[in-house]
Amino acid sequence: MDKSSTRSPLHSNQRHIVVVGGGVTGLATIYYLRQALGSQSETMRITLMERGGRLGGKLLTEQAGGFLLDGGPDCFLTRKPWALELCRELGLDDSLLDTNEAQREVYVLNKGRLHALPEGVMLIVPTRFLPFALSPLISIPGKLRMGLDLFIPRRSGDNDETLGSFVRRRLGQEALDKIAEPLLSGIHVSDPDQLSLKSTFPRLMEVERKYGSLIRGMLAARRQMNAVRKSGRPALPMFMSLEGGMQQITDGLVAHIAHLDIDVLTHTAVISITSQNSGGAPYVLHLQSGETVQADALVLSTPSDVTSRLVRPLDAQLADMLGTIRYVSTAVVALGYKNGPEVPRLSGFGFIIPESEQRRITACTYSSTKFAARAPEGHQLLRCFMGGPGRETILELDDQALLKVARQELADILGLQGTPSIARVFRWPKMNPQYDLNHLDRVAEMRARAASHGPLQLAGCAYDGVGVPDCIRQGKEAAEAIVAQMREC
Ligand SMILES: Cc1cc2nc3c(=O)[nH]c(=O)nc-3n(C[C@H](O)[C@H](O)[C@H](O)COP(=O)(O)OP(=O)(O)OC[C@H]3O[C@@H](n4cnc5c(N)ncnc54)[C@H](O)[C@@H]3O)c2cc1C
Repeated sequence: MDKSSTRSPLHSNQRHIVVVGGGVTGLATIYYLRQALGSQSETMRITLMERGGRLGGKLLTEQAGGFLLDGGPDCFLTRKPWALELCRELGLDDSLLDTNEAQREVYVLNKGRLHALPEGVMLIVPTRFLPFALSPLISIPGKLRMGLDLFIPRRSGDNDETLGSFVRRRLGQEALDKIAEPLLSGIHVSDPDQLSLKSTFPRLMEVERKYGSLIRGMLAARRQMNAVRKSGRPALPMFMSLEGGMQQITDGLVAHIAHLDIDVLTHTAVISITSQNSGGAPYVLHLQSGETVQADALVLSTPSDVTSRLVRPLDAQLADMLGTIRYVSTAVVALGYKNGPEVPRLSGFGFIIPESEQRRITACTYSSTKFAARAPEGHQLLRCFMGGPGRETILELDDQALLKVARQELADILGLQGTPSIARVFRWPKMNPQYDLNHLDRVAEMRARAASHGPLQLAGCAYDGVGVPDCIRQGKEAAEAIVAQMREC
């Protein structure tokens, strides 16, 4: 066990809360634990255990040659308020970075050519007639089929449905293939015919239920947005980041935690959890170093496959349930170029690629157009995505080969021939959880079973929300639930 801070002695009147996993979820849990404990803090010792040498998990930002590279997430959604709220609480207001709204086009590759998503498309739904009617992206029969959404009756009941079945039913196959699959499944790196709509885009279900049509619902949403704009109230961009990259959030949490009386232990892998008390607290954490540590309460923010292994001695059925959450592998290839004749000036946020195009990258973000200060003056930064369901074998290639593939694809799609001044591969092996049909129901069962042991909470991207705001919310909820459970014990 390596210590990034000295481990404080446990006083006889103190109870011990351990958070396992030092990604954004685990760090947020620690932050909100202190808030939830309030004046009770002195009666608790809190420890964070992280297997690796750095804290932050997938929030990983590097600087090289004047470029700022996010290897994992590059922004967060503002409609889910928890990331923005946390940034403000951490005093990061001055570092908050809007997306470049003047260049917000997203392109879709169709038959080898890039087409802008028609203006007015909200989520996946057209809300402006003319740009949609004139767009060459969707065929005329495809457009007419999308228009049928206005007449197709709403589905009754609130059973879960896959994204694929929902979009096919309301907007047709072409809208699924060309917009929903690359855009929405792309966010979750999932197969649309396995992805649970209820667990990922519940808003689409709500819109159907409320308006009986996605187009009518999105038109209403657009009217609301226009009213906000006209009222002069400042509207937030849909996505934001930080000047120092997304890792600034977890660095901010680490800096905050450093001022608190909390043991932060890096290079500390937990390998299993047992109990001294027939399946409940106090728990005994068995570390890779051979040491054991006793805890009265646990928050496990490790990936669910790891969590499954940890809890097996405690509860084999819970371990089996956790083991059903599948993961896929992805990689991000970041390439920085000096502008020149072989490097076209890019505009927009980037492009997405439907599976039917059969390319070896799945999407590309123009990072230096999407955000300011990602590349030095006169340079551009791009991030290409690879892997995901059905496309993981490409990740068997070594880094040099992946870079070559990314460059070939950019040459084909954008005509970008230049030699990059920086190139970097970030790999995420089996680190993208898949939210299959009825995922949230299974998660509710897992959480109830975990909590039945005593103060034991599951939080993180495997459960209810992969995005950074949802991970922060889960950390907050886990902290509050643990404190409530400990008050009951
Ligand atoms: C390429 C990519 C792009 C993304 N883009 C976006 C985006 O733009 N916006 C967005 O909102 N979200 C995005 N996401 C999703 C988001 O980044 C993640 O869902 C989120 O960061 C997960 O945080 P976490 O704390 O739950 O998990 P992790 O970050 O995986 O943290 C888990 C931690 O547990 C530790 N651990 C594992 N085993 C043990 C053990 N035995 N003992 C102790 N510690 C252990 C790990 O080392 C790790 O630090 C992206 C994800 C990826 C991979």
